[in-house]
Amino acid sequence: MTDLAQNLRAVRDRIDAAARAAGRDPATVALLAVSKTWPAADVRALAGLGQSDFGENRAQELVGKAAELADLPVRWHFIGQLQRNKAAAVARLGAVVHSVDRTSLAQALSRAGEAAERAVEVFLQVDLGGPEGELGARGGVDPAELPALADAVAGLPGIRLRGLMAVAPRGADPRPAFDRAGELAARLRADHPEAVEFSAGMSGDLEEAVAAGATLVRVGTALSGRRPLTSRGDTGVTPVTRASGAPG
Ligand SMILES: *Cc1c(COP(=O)(O)O)cnc(C)c1O
Repeated sequence: MTDLAQNLRAVRDRIDAAARAAGRDPATVALLAVSKTWPAADVRALAGLGQSDFGENRAQELVGKAAELADLPVRWHFIGQLQRNKAAAVARLGAVVHSVDRTSLAQALSRAGEAAERAVEVFLQVDLGGPEGELGARGGVDPAELPALADAVAGLPGIRLRGLMAVAPRGADPRPAFDRAGELAARLRADHPEAVEFSAGMSGDLEEAVAAGATLVRVGTALSGRRPLTSRGDTGVTPVTRASGAPG
C-alpha cells in the first residue's frame, strides 16, 4: 500500500472506532479530505482510492485544483473564510460552502447559485470561541445569532442549508466545545429539518467530534502524513514538510 492508502485506511479506522464507541453506525460519519496545500496528484491518488469529497480553504487554490482535476468525479468543499467576490467562482464548481457566518455572504452565494442554476449547499459556521471562550478567533457566527442567520439563509432561493460547522478552540479540551456545537446543530435541525449535517473534527480531535455527533469530519494532516501545525496559530499556513511543488 502507498502511504496515502495507509493513511486513508488509518483515518477511516479511527472514524469507525469512534462511531462504534459512541454507539453510532460508522456509515453515518463521512470523511472530508482537506487537500489544501497538497499537490493535485495527491488528490487524484486519493480519489483513485475511493475518496470522493475534498476540502480547500482558499478560493484561488480551489479553482486551480478543480480545473486540473476536472475529469475526476469528486465533490469540492470550501472550508475557509470566503469573500463575497469569490462566491460566484466557488458556486460554479458546485462546491459545498462550510463557512457561512453572515447574511451578506449568504446573499452573495444565493445570487451565485441562481446564476449557476444550481443551489449552493451551505453549512453555517458557528464560533465556539478560543481557549478562554473569546469570540472572533477563527470565524463563525456568535451562537446567539445563529437562529437569525439560519432563518435568513433558509429564505434565500439560491442556497440550501445543510447543517452546522464548527472548529474546536485551539489548545483546550475540545469536548465541551463539540458538545455545545452538537446541541446547536440539533437545535438548528429542529428549526430547519433539512439541516441534518454537523461538520466537526479534524486530525487531532475527530474522536471527540464523532462522540458529539459529527456527521462529517474534515481531515488533512493525518491523511497527507504531514506533521500537524501546532505553534503557528493558523491551520491555513503552508506546511513546512511537504516540498513537492504544491500550488498556492
Ligand atoms: C485545515 C483545516 C482542517 C484540517 O485540519 P487537519 O488538522 O490538518 O486535519 C479542518 N477544518 C478546517 C476549517 C481547516 O482549515
